[in-house]
Amino acid sequence: MAIQRGCFGGCTFCSITEHEGRIIQSRSEDSVIREIEAIRDDVKGFTGVISDLGGPTANMYRLHCKSSDVESACRRPSCVFPGICPNLNTDHAPLINLYRRARALPGIKKVLIASGVRYDLAIESPEYVKELATHHTGGYLKIAPEAIGEGPLSKMMKPGVGSYYRFKELFDKYSKEAGKEQYLIPYFIAAHPGTRDVDMLELALWLKKNGFRADQVQAFLPSPMATATAMYHSFKNPLKKISRTSEEVVIPKGIKVRRLHKAFLRYHDPENWPLLREALKRMGRADLIGNGKQHLIPAYQPVGGSRATPGRPFRTQHTGLPKSGRAGGNSRRRSA
Ligand code: SF4
Repeated sequence: MAIQRGCFGGCTFCSITEHEGRIIQSRSEDSVIREIEAIRDDVKGFTGVISDLGGPTANMYRLHCKSSDVESACRRPSCVFPGICPNLNTDHAPLINLYRRARALPGIKKVLIASGVRYDLAIESPEYVKELATHHTGGYLKIAPEAIGEGPLSKMMKPGVGSYYRFKELFDKYSKEAGKEQYLIPYFIAAHPGTRDVDMLELALWLKKNGFRADQVQAFLPSPMATATAMYHSFKNPLKKISRTSEEVVIPKGIKVRRLHKAFLRYHDPENWPLLREALKRMGRADLIGNGKQHLIPAYQPVGGSRATPGRPFRTQHTGLPKSGRAGGNSRRRSA
């Protein structure tokens, strides 16, 4: 269920800020509650589970600039990049109240949050993270760091990985306090403008270290109105002043490099090992080929089978549960 429109995140690969606006339009609490009641009363076969209360981003409900005059004159493409603007009201109390009211309705067993949580905002309100972990997560919560290296992150206008760690710390703490075993499922984009082979290698090592293996992964595709599309076509960085001599953005274009970047995300798939071995040798990182824990990929090639490396599987599709997901798990929107 949509509880708001708009997004002030400004992620460059997404055009929601452009076509829905940077100023959040939030529904009233009563309107949302009436819709839940209507679903409960009128939808045949309704199980009592609301699978999502969200929007382009799960946690921007009622968030806004502290001054409407400043807001109407402001030309910043994002209120949260490179850091959270001091003029932004990040009070999650209205959203917490809405969640509490929704889950207290008679006939409603569970209210889940499937829209992407903007975790750099969420950590501004530990009480929100507590609410989310305790009552609104179906075992797995999908979030979207999209990258971990500063190079691609700065071209995506996404927060640094430090925010992810802080959010994880809070999420794990509150999940434990609630007596629930829950996991964060991070999503990443391969081949985004600004991504070099070494950035993808760094990400592959991070995934391996943290025990993740992606079932399905996505590579960047230039889409209408997205700022990253302008980078893709011009090789320039429109987030800064553009001139003939201004920064050239690395663009992983072409089937070979796109395939390699996806292969790094699926480092555990033996089908990708020949390509990765070749790339690691070329990059001077043959030390990562071998059969030890410290290696990224083995030196041998198995015959048949494609699931050799253990880890927690995760998907990058918009919808559907991870294979190992639990009842009431989340689908995913791409914006947060
Ligand atoms: S001043 Fe800050 S909070 Fe207000 S609209 Fe601009 S970036 Fe957003």
